[in-house]
Amino acid sequence: MKHVMATLLRLQTLEMGDDVESPAVSQSIAELRAKIPPQILGHYDRMMARGKKGIAIVRNGVCRECHVKLAIGALQVLRHGTDIQICGNCGRYLCLEEDVATAVSAPVAPAIPKPRTRKPKKAALEHAR
Ligand SMILES: [Zn+2]
Repeated sequence: MKHVMATLLRLQTLEMGDDVESPAVSQSIAELRAKIPPQILGHYDRMMARGKKGIAIVRNGVCRECHVKLAIGALQVLRHGTDIQICGNCGRYLCLEEDVATAVSAPVAPAIPKPRTRKPKKAALEHAR
């Protein structure tokens, strides 16, 4: 689930930025939103509607928004990326700082899908001509 949280964090950065009105940024926002599951987006939007950040970065095991130390179990889950974690104190989604770094350095463009190895049906191609 790390990529979902990284995507959410990128979305939040754009939505809280000064360029949110520009067409390029709103295009990016739409693309990022399309990648995030609706229920996660819903919780995020409710937080943002209340003027809060929807996702917080975790540094040294501490939520950077409310400065409360996370439970070891929650940190383990975050490290392994097996599930989403919400800060027990402020209710924000959590994203490890080291995961943010890898997400930012990753290319913005989506990965090119591998070409299909399945050969097209010869008969169908000839029939189309
Ligand atoms: Zn918190």
